[in-house]
Amino acid sequence: MASKLDFDEINRPEYEDWFDVGIGDEELKRRVKAAIAFDNRIGATLAWIERTRPGVRAMYERFHRDYMDMLDDLDDADEEFLEERAIQFAEEVTKSTQNHRGDLDGYWTSAQRAVEIAKNESGLVSNDFEYQRAKKQGKKLKTWHTMGDNKVRETHWPMDGVTVGIDEFFTVGGFDMLYPMDGEHGAPPEEIINCRCWVTYR
Ligand SMILES: [Zn+2]
Repeated sequence: MASKLDFDEINRPEYEDWFDVGIGDEELKRRVKAAIAFDNRIGATLAWIERTRPGVRAMYERFHRDYMDMLDDLDDADEEFLEERAIQFAEEVTKSTQNHRGDLDGYWTSAQRAVEIAKNESGLVSNDFEYQRAKKQGKKLKTWHTMGDNKVRETHWPMDGVTVGIDEFFTVGGFDMLYPMDGEHGAPPEEIINCRCWVTYR
């Protein structure tokens, strides 16, 4: 893991910290629900990997199926986005799990890792959902917000309060992002993992 991540938003295991953002009760509830859905499925899959030591292909298929199962729970998320992300996710998480199989500390198949994955994936899915919904509602502008504490990344601090057109990119650490955790337009994991920033639309 890049050392760049050590000082910022990487070490926040609790959902409360993660979800304590200015988005209102309804959105907060949706995010927690999504996180728990991911946590349950991915946690079970990591335990299964630990127990049965499956091959790479079986691992990929199960991670992919876990993600697609989200479609049943996240009925208001964008299906096309989830289907594309499912493929990407299954590849990423299979590769990283496989690469760390021999690690003695057990983190890569632990419940803690399931929580980390749940936070990031539910955040990403929720951010995309809010973006799509705002566009449908005819919103024109979006504003980036940070938690304003000392865990915020150096590259996200300057984004606090920045407003752009809804279809424009935020420039974050030199990368284009439609919303926090958007990795589709070149932003690397250093700008994404455990980011707690959020966007409001108007
Ligand atoms: Zn952030």
